[in-house]
Amino acid sequence: MQDVEFVDGLLDFIQRSPTPFHACDNIAATLRENGFTELFEADDWALQATAQHSGRYFVCRNDSSIIAFCINSDAVEHGFQMVGAHTDSPCLKVKPQAEKVSQGYLQLGVEVYGGALLNPWFDRDLSLAGRVSFIDAADELHSVLVDFEQAIASIPSLAIHLDRDANDKRSINKQQHLPPLVMKLPKKLEDSSSTPQLRDLLLDLVQRQHPGSGAHQVLEYELSFYDVQPPAVIGLHQDFIAAARLDNLLSCYTGLRALLDENGKRNCLLVCNDHEEVGSMSACGAQGPFLHSVLQRLCPQAAQLTRALDRSLLISADNAHGVHPNYADKHDDKHGPLLNAGPVIKTNANQRYATNSHTASLFRRLCHQADVPVQAFVTRSDMACGSTIGPITASVIGVDTIDVGVPTFAMHSIRELAGRWDGFYLYRALREFFRG
Ligand SMILES: [Zn+2]
Repeated sequence: MQDVEFVDGLLDFIQRSPTPFHACDNIAATLRENGFTELFEADDWALQATAQHSGRYFVCRNDSSIIAFCINSDAVEHGFQMVGAHTDSPCLKVKPQAEKVSQGYLQLGVEVYGGALLNPWFDRDLSLAGRVSFIDAADELHSVLVDFEQAIASIPSLAIHLDRDANDKRSINKQQHLPPLVMKLPKKLEDSSSTPQLRDLLLDLVQRQHPGSGAHQVLEYELSFYDVQPPAVIGLHQDFIAAARLDNLLSCYTGLRALLDENGKRNCLLVCNDHEEVGSMSACGAQGPFLHSVLQRLCPQAAQLTRALDRSLLISADNAHGVHPNYADKHDDKHGPLLNAGPVIKTNANQRYATNSHTASLFRRLCHQADVPVQAFVTRSDMACGSTIGPITASVIGVDTIDVGVPTFAMHSIRELAGRWDGFYLYRALREFFRG
C-alpha cells in the first residue's frame, strides 16, 4: 500500500466512524472483504481443537470492541504478534431522558464521555450517531447503527459582551452549559406534553436507514454527538491531518491495514477495545476478559497459554503528545516528539506505560528494519503522565508490551492534528512486525 492511498483510506475510515460501534462495523466489513471469517463468542469454535489451524478470523463484543487474528503456525511454539488500539474517543453522549425545553428551544441533555477538551465543542455543526435498540411488531428485540449524517445541533458560545472575562477564565459547567440546541419549537409545541421525543425521531431514522428492520418502537439508545466537518489534509505543504477521533482511530486503521498485509508466516492479532477513555474497566474494555478469553480458546490449556504468551509481544498503539511550538515548556526538552518524524516510544518509570528496555529495543529494531524514523517520549518529571491500554492489557494477560503512538496536537479536542506521514510510518513498522 502506498502512502497517499493509506492517508486517503485513513480519512475515509474516520469519516465513516463517528462512534466505536461504527468503527467496529467498518473494521469488520474490511476484514470480511479480506477473507476473515466472523466468529461468535456463544458458538463452539472449530479452530478450538488445534493451535495449528491456519485461518483468518475475527470476533466482536458489544458491537464496539473487536479482535482479529491469523493463525499461521503453532501458537505455543511461536506465540502471537499482537497490536492493540482503542475504538472510543472523548465525546458528548445523550442522556436516557434527554429532551429538555428552555426559552422555547429543544435541547438534548448530555454526559461528557472521557476527558474531553470541552471548549472546542462550542460553535460546531454537530450530528448524532450510535446504536439504537428497538422492538418489532412481534416484540422481538433488535439493535442497529444509525447516523443522522447532517448537522442537527449546535452548542453556541456565550458572546464575549456577556462575559468579558471569557478569554481569561471562562469555565464550563458540564450540566448547565453543554446541552446542544436541536430546534426552535413553534409556540404550540412548547409545553412538555407535545415536545418532540428523541425516540420518535429515532424510530423514523431507523425506518429510513434500515427499511427492512420492521422497527416498531425504540426502547433504548447509545448516541454520541460528533462534528460533521470532514477530516482533511491541511497546511501550506499539506503536512497535517486535521480530524476528530485521531486518538485513536488512527491506530485502529493502521493496525488493521498492517494485519491485512500479514504474509501467512506468524500468528498475528489485532485488538481494538472500547472504553479506554473511561479507564477500560468493562466487559469489552482492555481491563475486561475479552482478549484473555479469545487467547484461551486458541490455547485451551493454561500451561499452553502461558508458554505462548511468553513468546508473544503486544504493541499498544495510542497517540502521543507532539511538542507544541507555542507551549514547548510542557515537554521535557530531550523528549519532544515532532510531527512527521515517526512513531514515538512512550516510557514511564511508574508503569503508566508498559514499555521496558527490552520491548523498546524490539520496536526500535523493527523501525530500523522498516526504514522508519522513531522518537522517544517521557512526561516532564513535574507533570502527571497519562496512560493507555498497554499497561492494562499487560497486567491482565501478562504479555511483554510496548506503548507507542504517532505524535499529535490537541488530543481530546473535537478536532485533533497529526502529521500526514506518521500513520504511514507506523503502518510500515507494524507490517514488518506481523511479517517477521
Ligand atoms: Zn488514546
